[in-house]
Amino acid sequence: MGWLALDDTDHLGGGCTTYTLFELIQNLPDEYTASEFRLVRLYPFARQRTRGNAAVAVKIDGDNYEVLLSFLDLWWNENILPLKGMLTQSDDYHRKQSPTDPGMVWFEEQPNESTYWDCVTREVTLVELPAATKSWGGHGKIGATAAIAWPSREYTFEAISWRTKKSVEKSSDRKVDLVRLAEIDEDPNTFMSRDLRSNSVLISPRGNCPVLFGLRAKTFESAKNGCEFLIESNNTESVEGYVVFQTNQATDDHLGDEMSSVVDSIEIKKRGTVKILCDNGDELMAFAESGDVKILAQWLKSGDEVQYNGMKNEDNTIHLERLQVLSAAPEKHRPKCSECDSTLKSMGKDQLLRCPKCRKRFADQWINVERIPPFSKWVQPPKDSMRHLSKPITW
Ligand SMILES: [Zn+2]
Repeated sequence: MGWLALDDTDHLGGGCTTYTLFELIQNLPDEYTASEFRLVRLYPFARQRTRGNAAVAVKIDGDNYEVLLSFLDLWWNENILPLKGMLTQSDDYHRKQSPTDPGMVWFEEQPNESTYWDCVTREVTLVELPAATKSWGGHGKIGATAAIAWPSREYTFEAISWRTKKSVEKSSDRKVDLVRLAEIDEDPNTFMSRDLRSNSVLISPRGNCPVLFGLRAKTFESAKNGCEFLIESNNTESVEGYVVFQTNQATDDHLGDEMSSVVDSIEIKKRGTVKILCDNGDELMAFAESGDVKILAQWLKSGDEVQYNGMKNEDNTIHLERLQVLSAAPEKHRPKCSECDSTLKSMGKDQLLRCPKCRKRFADQWINVERIPPFSKWVQPPKDSMRHLSKPITW
């Protein structure tokens, strides 16, 4: 038994690591069997990350691996190596793209899980990797090794189906039975299929990629059954095949413990993005796309105690993935005049209050008014802006 994994074969213009693995497994010599397919998402801020930032792995059983390794050599040279150096720049994609640098690894024994935890929480370089039994290629070896090192104690599933070569070439619009998808969405074991608020379908990628859809679920059965139900419909285009992957999606593996602090001040920036400065020195970012997180962040005032989680970016700001108010500082008002009901005004620092209308004087005092946050519990970004790794707060 051993593990095969690959990464970094896709770019904006096409390609897809899941399909590259699917094709390879379809052509595996007869004496080997593949099982336990894995799709592992990695450090969201990795500099050379690919579009989906996911690596794939699979367990392979067989008697001896000589035939397998020569098959892999050949397959690598003919089918994967040619994907190296692909680069598509896109104006509406704001991140600088790196050329693809595929990597493939074969491990007879699973490497220590520490490699996975490193690769999901920080930037990792090639020299840090444990030695594979055999490896091919470049940068992609990092994600590939992480996918095998993943301990998979907490996991979900994603059933991925691929379009036929003809549909990919024509780059026609994807056709998936949305009536059936709505039925599948009723199964509480599936998740992230649709966003009813924005009325968007979340299972199909955009652009020129061989994936027709990826159906996410908490159980293997729900992913498999839902996927087959969609594929068997006349209103879904024909597919090359499908595979149910075990994945680290919706596990929060990339996040540390919850943090809390008191708000010092907030700055509202372009498009409503909020920067929150905290007493403990943390700088939190609630981005325009983050929905309820942004709304709650805009409401905050100095003195509010908040709890939060997110990842620290290169500029040291923490990109919020969830936020809640633990206690809200009260709003302070001056009392009203007992004679004429006008709001009193201070006559100066440490001086009495005076009614602007009847001129009556009062002791210096404040009235505390409770502020009620727009959300009383945790909030997180809407489904279509959440990271694949993020666990829904409703779980
Ligand atoms: Zn008065």
